Amino acid sequence: MQKNGSDIQDAVRITPTAPVHVATHGGRAKCLQRLVRLELPVPRTVALSFDAVLGIANGVMPDLDAILAEFPDDALLCVRPSSEDPDWGGPGAILNIGVNDACYVDLCDQLGREAAAAIYLRFVQSYAVHVARLDPDVFEDVEDGGPDALVEILHAYEAETDESFPQNRSEQLGAVLRSMARAWEGTSARLLRQARGAPADAGLGLVVQQMMPGLGQGVCGSGVLQLVNSNTGEPQITGRYLSQSQGRDALGAGASAMFLAKDPRGTSLEETAPEAFEELKTHAALMRRRLREEMQAEFVIQDGRVHILDGVRVQRSARGGLRMAVGLAEDNIIPPQEAVMRIDAHSLNELLHRQVAPDARRDVIGDGIAASPGAATGRLVFTSAEAQASASRGEDCVLVRRETSPEDVRGMHASVAVLTEKGGMTSHAAVIGRGLGLPCIVGANSIRFDPRRKRLRAADGRVFRAGDLITIDGSTGQVLAGEPAMIEAAQDGAFQTLMGWADEARDISIRTNADTPRDATTARNFDAQGIGLCRTEHMFFDPGRLTVMQEMIFAETPSGRAAVLARLLPMQRDDFRELFRIMEGTPVCIRLFDLPLHEFLPTSQSGQRELSEALGLPVSEVTRRVEELGEYNPMLGLRGVRLGVTVPEIYDMQARAIFEATLEASEEGAPVVPEIMIPLVSAKREVEMVKARIDSVAAAVRLERGREFDYRLGVMVETPRAALRADEIATHAAFLSFGTNDLTQMTYGLSRDDAGRFMSEYVRQGVFPEDPFHVLDVDGVGELLKLGVQRGREANPDVTLSICGEHGGNPESIAFCRRAGFDYVSCSPFRVPVARLAAAQLAI
Ligand code: PEP
Ligand code: MG
Repeated sequence: MQKNGSDIQDAVRITPTAPVHVATHGGRAKCLQRLVRLELPVPRTVALSFDAVLGIANGVMPDLDAILAEFPDDALLCVRPSSEDPDWGGPGAILNIGVNDACYVDLCDQLGREAAAAIYLRFVQSYAVHVARLDPDVFEDVEDGGPDALVEILHAYEAETDESFPQNRSEQLGAVLRSMARAWEGTSARLLRQARGAPADAGLGLVVQQMMPGLGQGVCGSGVLQLVNSNTGEPQITGRYLSQSQGRDALGAGASAMFLAKDPRGTSLEETAPEAFEELKTHAALMRRRLREEMQAEFVIQDGRVHILDGVRVQRSARGGLRMAVGLAEDNIIPPQEAVMRIDAHSLNELLHRQVAPDARRDVIGDGIAASPGAATGRLVFTSAEAQASASRGEDCVLVRRETSPEDVRGMHASVAVLTEKGGMTSHAAVIGRGLGLPCIVGANSIRFDPRRKRLRAADGRVFRAGDLITIDGSTGQVLAGEPAMIEAAQDGAFQTLMGWADEARDISIRTNADTPRDATTARNFDAQGIGLCRTEHMFFDPGRLTVMQEMIFAETPSGRAAVLARLLPMQRDDFRELFRIMEGTPVCIRLFDLPLHEFLPTSQSGQRELSEALGLPVSEVTRRVEELGEYNPMLGLRGVRLGVTVPEIYDMQARAIFEATLEASEEGAPVVPEIMIPLVSAKREVEMVKARIDSVAAAVRLERGREFDYRLGVMVETPRAALRADEIATHAAFLSFGTNDLTQMTYGLSRDDAGRFMSEYVRQGVFPEDPFHVLDVDGVGELLKLGVQRGREANPDVTLSICGEHGGNPESIAFCRRAGFDYVSCSPFRVPVARLAAAQLAI
């Protein structure tokens, strides 16, 4: 064997000690060496290094005689690719190298004429198409694989090339190696692998292996076997076996392939060749144990004897992958922490929500921002009223709106999924959709929305009307026509086990953003360690309550407002008591009202009509008042603490409701220490003013009830100024919670409700690497967070620091938060497991 300058051998026979490495010879070569070390019956193999293959592509052929000397003179060979990562692809395997006219005669004697012809024919076909690059139509379209076809195809080769088919094994091998090496260097192969994450200079190794024909006398055939089900990850012997076959024929053989284990639906290898079957199982189990992974064994049975050609990592669904990792750890093959590391945190979404089946046909109508994961099918409805009517008929529906507002929340509750034309990751529909675990796509501007005529027009011109069946895939952002096959959510025992291991490793807490008892229950079931953000205004999205909230916004006189607040107080008190009960003594952080007015003003005629009835005013008067209260830029208008400062009795009522609920809940269980959070602060004075009033409400409640309680008052940092002035703000705060939704909006000067219009274009053109409402902008918003953390901690070393924007559920953003020294992150309930796993992986 040749050596080049380094100690990497260009072509090396794979033995237990040969210098074969993934980085020099590729993953397949390395895996074969591991199989050889396990003393599995692997046919003799020579590995060619990346350098050798690059040399071949550039016209420098290794010593072929030396390679061939490693094999018996009459052995047929195959060549297969061995890139560093199998996902990067590579040229297809070429089998039966070495067959020629003389060999054919011998094979006829040894294996029979049919088998010999099939072997020769297969090689001529692949050689003609992939090596000589002749017209595939001429060579691939062969009716039967018998001796007549062989004669015909050899003639065709001569006719196309004016040469007879090469007979020399060395010449054949050289040509095959050259064609595979050059295929790897071709532009399309290069682009394809780079799209799959390969570096520009990714190398290709090749393995030359002695063929076991899989054809001939006795039990002969080929197949694949694995010990687990790819979809579920449950132990189950699966695979295919095809008698008298080679390569991966068994996989494409449909009904003619055999089952491996006994199966009522047809014959099995277990019945046909029980000893070979037993041997295969033993080999596969050894591979699993020693390679520390669920492996698929590629095998050939030749005259009853088993040969292992290769081992590849079992293909797997997200669910299957999790079950496999847990299974390996439970069998003490890998440590639990390694099982935790093997699962992609993003992939948990597939277990938490229903999904479109991976093999389902997707008839895509259009796409938008994947705002809330999971998939659901329903009939198109264009108003919340229709959604409710549909739900009362027991019919699943998809609510389509230009954008949603609190008036639509009832409709969202009644729908199985939501689609909006406008919006971004943190717009109303997206936040509510994630809270409810409802698949949601926003910013779907590739589709034309025509709510007035109740129809959607797809980019390809198709029109979908109210009542038509569509599917929202909130995991990919695709809107699909009809009802593709789905797979159900499954948080089984393996999921729970893995999450338990994750929690043991984690060193940052995970709380949840929960506004209602339903959200809190979901999050508690996912083991959230408290509520990091309860958006109290969202408690009024419920049917019947929205109007009370609107009445409060509309109240003009102090007495009118006092009357509405008196009605709100018991509602809030009950809500809070319920949250404290569900959260069982874990911290509950309640944000005082933050009312971006536009989200709560009734825009629809029906909403205005309902309000006019509640207020006893003419509709025209309500319309006038809505216009009056309208703001040019409501996200930057009278909201958050500005409301608390200008109309303080609203926060007084909320503080009282919290304290009364605290006392009541503490009677029922462990003492509750509520956290009260002031939103949209930008100046120290705002905090001082609100704090003074809340402290006096606390004093009043203590006096009235004759009982003590504690509470923690904190500030939501969501304006750039609050981050910059975190030091003076932190001196008045027990905690600072960074609201990265608004902070991102204000740092970029980018409306969170309108970003969806152009965000995908911005990301496509590389202006932004990611949607900053989805993945935290570490460079810009992150700088503000770091400043805020540093200044806040310096001024108040005991201050608790957290984020509660939507980024709290994003693994990349959690990594930043952990580095920056946050105590916890808070995210919507269904993202809690994703956050728990991502945080654990950072700590391992
Ligand atoms: C935020 O701004 O990050 C936040 C959590 O609050 P909201 O989304 O309610 O504005
Ligand atoms: Mg905010």
